Amino acid sequence: MLLPEESVVHGSSAEPQPSNAARPQDLPALDRLLRLSAVQALALAHGHTLVAQTARALLTELRARAIAGGLSVDALAHDALADALARRVHERLAPRMRTVLNLTGTVLHTNLGRALLPEAAIAHITAMMAAPNDLEFDLVTGRRGDRDSIVEGLLCELTGAEAATVVNNNAAAVLLTLAALASGREVIVSRGELVEIGGAFRMPDVMQSVGARLVEVGTTNRTHPRDYEGAIGERTALLMKVHTSNYQVQGFTSAVAEAQLAPIAAVRGLPLVTDLGSGALIDLGAYGLPPEPTPRQMLADGCALVTFSGDKLLGGPQAGLIVGRKDLVARIKAHPMKRALRMSKLPLAALEATLRLYLRPERLTQDLPTLRLLTRPLAAIEATARAVAPALQVALAPRYSVQQVALQGQIGSGSLPVERLPSSGLALAPVDAAGTGRALEALCAALRALPMPVIGRIHEDRLLLDMRCLEKPAQLLDQIGLLRWSDKRK
Ligand SMILES: *Cc1c(COP(=O)(O)O)cnc(C)c1O
Repeated sequence: MLLPEESVVHGSSAEPQPSNAARPQDLPALDRLLRLSAVQALALAHGHTLVAQTARALLTELRARAIAGGLSVDALAHDALADALARRVHERLAPRMRTVLNLTGTVLHTNLGRALLPEAAIAHITAMMAAPNDLEFDLVTGRRGDRDSIVEGLLCELTGAEAATVVNNNAAAVLLTLAALASGREVIVSRGELVEIGGAFRMPDVMQSVGARLVEVGTTNRTHPRDYEGAIGERTALLMKVHTSNYQVQGFTSAVAEAQLAPIAAVRGLPLVTDLGSGALIDLGAYGLPPEPTPRQMLADGCALVTFSGDKLLGGPQAGLIVGRKDLVARIKAHPMKRALRMSKLPLAALEATLRLYLRPERLTQDLPTLRLLTRPLAAIEATARAVAPALQVALAPRYSVQQVALQGQIGSGSLPVERLPSSGLALAPVDAAGTGRALEALCAALRALPMPVIGRIHEDRLLLDMRCLEKPAQLLDQIGLLRWSDKRK
């Protein structure tokens, strides 16, 4: 088992069976431990409460190990005890949420926090959170204001919508839209679009939870305009399209596009709602990326409402955006659940600053990290891979080989699931073929144990590190030296 030195020190399970085993009565009393000068210094820095509480927990644990016969008297030396206590105090004060290096090749990785916020958004959050602000206060009239108004004008301008409202995330946007417009009535959806989005958000369950009845039409692979027409009845509240963002049905397929469905809905006086999921605000095709429908296009095609996420291709904070017809947005805003799902001032500040970047489209590939990473030239990614390869080779030899390879990355978060982004990176492979799986796991664990954990992906007996998202190679190079290997095998 390979572990960085740090974790060997921490690891209790790997402790050798001591010849000089400590007995429970060898443990110091809490008071005595707290009187050690190193511990007093610790209490001076962090206060008595935290240090005493941590010391008590440490002694309880050591006692259990002594009873089990697995504790050496060396661990009870004053220095060793003070060190162990200091380490625990610092561990408790260190944030659980940490930054990592995303070398998975997936730019919008849901498990790694999706979109990176633009500098402008981070600066605006910092400024807005450090002082009172006009979140719900109209500076012109001096009266109470509406927090949605901070971004509504921008959203209308960027999508061509009449009105807009924002909630906590896109799941909430869909939920609220259905609750406000379809409770107690029917919603028509194609069977090919009854999606589950990561984390148990299933369209049929969402419908049920707001008391809407789902009317499925068509089949998994094919749905036709007549299927929708035949399903419309007295109780129909709306027609719904769901962007099948995290999978694609291929082969003998047919779906009814928004532009085709909109007239069918209009004739019956029903709104057509589309859940876009990702919702790029700009034409990605213009940047050489696979095209994705925009909210503007969906509205132009006749949708009454479009819902989409703030932290996918838009490149901002977690948010759910609802844009479209004024009367429908007003009904959504008036629903009591809007208050429960409203955005907090923190992401709202970030959303405003992010949206404002779109007013300068020529600068977007610089200013918007998501677009910057998605459009990063292959030559630059290759250069990064070349730059970090030698240091990794030195750190991992002789157990692992390091080879620069061409890779296929992806956008992620359900955006364009089938499309791949040509990329470059390093493939790390155990030199000794025996125990490859274990050796790879150990390598991953060691990389995760670095001060800024490094996350790659395992593919065909190699650990792949995709360099697309490593814009600052120093973040990797500066810590590679901390990967020290113990050759002890389990
Ligand atoms: C991602 C996605 C959602 C959920 O959006 P969140 O912002 O993650 O809540 C809903 N619908 C579709 C089609 C999606 O792709």
